Amino acid sequence: MKQADRIYYGGDYNPDQWDDATVAEDMRLFRQAGINLLTLPVFSWAKLEPEEGVYDFGWLDAIIDRIWQNGIRVCLATPTAAQPAWLSTRYPEVLPVDIQGRRRTHGMRVFFCVNSLKYRERAAAIAHEFGRRYAHHPALAMWHVANEYGTSCYCPACQAKFRLWLRQRYGGIEELNARWNTAFWGRTVYAFDEIALPTELNDDYRFNPAVQLDYMRFLTDCTVECFNNERDVLKSYNPEIPVLTNTSGFIKKLDQFAFARNLDAVGWDNYPWPQDPPHFVAMKHDIMRGLKGGQSFVLAEQSPNQQNWQPYNRLKRPGEVRLLSYQAMAHGADTCLFFQMRQSAAGQEKFHGAIIGHSGRSDTRVFREAEALGKELAALGDRFLQARTPARVAFLMDWNSWWALELASGPSRDMDYLKTLSAYYRPFFARNIAVDFVDPAADTDYSGYALVVAPMLYMTKPGVAEALTEYVRGGGHLLATVMTGLADENDRCVFGAYPGKLREAMGIWVEETDALRPEEGNGLAVCGPLKLPRERYACGFLCDVLHAESAEVLAVYADDFYAGTPCVTRNRFGAGTAWYVGTQPEDAFLDDLTDAICREAGVEGLYASEPGVEATRRVGERGATVFLLNHNAHLACADLGGARLADLLTGEKLTGRVELPGRGVRVCREL
Ligand SMILES: [Zn+2]
Repeated sequence: MKQADRIYYGGDYNPDQWDDATVAEDMRLFRQAGINLLTLPVFSWAKLEPEEGVYDFGWLDAIIDRIWQNGIRVCLATPTAAQPAWLSTRYPEVLPVDIQGRRRTHGMRVFFCVNSLKYRERAAAIAHEFGRRYAHHPALAMWHVANEYGTSCYCPACQAKFRLWLRQRYGGIEELNARWNTAFWGRTVYAFDEIALPTELNDDYRFNPAVQLDYMRFLTDCTVECFNNERDVLKSYNPEIPVLTNTSGFIKKLDQFAFARNLDAVGWDNYPWPQDPPHFVAMKHDIMRGLKGGQSFVLAEQSPNQQNWQPYNRLKRPGEVRLLSYQAMAHGADTCLFFQMRQSAAGQEKFHGAIIGHSGRSDTRVFREAEALGKELAALGDRFLQARTPARVAFLMDWNSWWALELASGPSRDMDYLKTLSAYYRPFFARNIAVDFVDPAADTDYSGYALVVAPMLYMTKPGVAEALTEYVRGGGHLLATVMTGLADENDRCVFGAYPGKLREAMGIWVEETDALRPEEGNGLAVCGPLKLPRERYACGFLCDVLHAESAEVLAVYADDFYAGTPCVTRNRFGAGTAWYVGTQPEDAFLDDLTDAICREAGVEGLYASEPGVEATRRVGERGATVFLLNHNAHLACADLGGARLADLLTGEKLTGRVELPGRGVRVCREL
């Protein structure tokens, strides 16, 4: 695959919205800002194919040549995220049907049925036009298919295909009945034609979660097919050009591990909410890096200033775009791309930030910051491209588990998988301990990890618990939590006590789980062999009433009828150790427990730093690159100890205490 030779800097550009004079001015400003990659024409299907099979590519040919004459490369996007009106009008079956059975109207983007054969036919046809024209264009850096997939559909075509998908998955109807446990509520089906898409949702009872779970798997598979429909066309013209798409910031609805297997590189759009803490953003980057086993990813979009679609669209403060950009690169991005280069005159996103705003001026704060960042990235060259992040801690992230956990009715409506991952991730972030996110499968190799963290691994698919058990037996540390090991891959609860097949490794069994109201809490009293800085901590949300079998009890509940019973345990198993937290402790406990586990597992952070200061390290062919990032608005420090670094941007030599101004960044090499 063709590799980049520099950090790609730029983003979405929509020249079809502008006249010639504006485009000429844009080229001048792009050169000034150090832009070297433009993504286009993401939404231009209607202009490129004004009627079925009639193409007008002349304007795109001209603009690509013009961009290339200005020394800028292109990420060429098939424009299939927004089908033209004639396609929706002539073939209404391309439009999605929503969960209430309404065939939706034309006018939105990413608003098509991924299973529509007509959509796929026309999408492949225009992908052929792209391949034929541009697959060997010297400006072409990568292909970008469609945009932010993730539209559900409940049309007759999807209904028929879902039945076929189930037939292929389960073989016979008896097997399906067993897997879905349809005996409950008398939901037995006698033929695949009797199966309905899960469209009945109401406030009292949810649809059978096993059916809903399979629908989400089905939607992932169909969306992957829809992507591959175009990918295969593009690859047929030039297999060297990487093909990717961009994942929306909201990443729950499609299994991204399954999707990523079909991509040459992961691309994602980072739009943090103003209130998102830095560790939450860092975690999402780490998840994206994990999708292809630690391979660097494409930061496909971020806003060079405020967004427009949040309730309150705060300006990014001076230095904030630079900080967020380097944070992405610190966690594995090899690009720094924005939506968008020039702010659109009208439409849904007219108030979305852009490098060139409505004023059209280059003497704005946003443009000046973009220009300064462009100069820095040019100076960094190919320093850390394709560099990996060495990590000795793995977090398990399973989309199926995420869906099933949050589809469950009970024990608590507040179960939030991403929030729980984030709560356990935060202490590692605060200690500058690198974390990989991995997909728990039967053949996942944990041997490189000293510690595996599995927050709310509700579902254990075949072989997963066995692999984790062997990992612990062989000397690994495993940290599991409440709501782990309850169900199989079809959301059937395990018999023989939770945490199911992990019971032996954990050395406990869970008898029942209390769900507290948000205003309620319990306490956690530290006891036994583990010394922590405090004797009491708060806990709440969910409280397992559990029994230690071979495990040592590290903490017990302080209150309620289960006061004095275990809530945190540690089990020596084989050559390893399995830790279990049966409740949701306050953050201070997770900090102290993380310290204790890391001490035992021999895991250390990169450097010490003050709160809000982050340090990461990427290692590649050109050596190690260290990123120091201050997420505070005020000055704060990292402590390098005896390590010696050189700032790649200023040339300064650094050791010991390093001051970083508010939102300051240092990109360094090791001496
Ligand atoms: Zn459909």
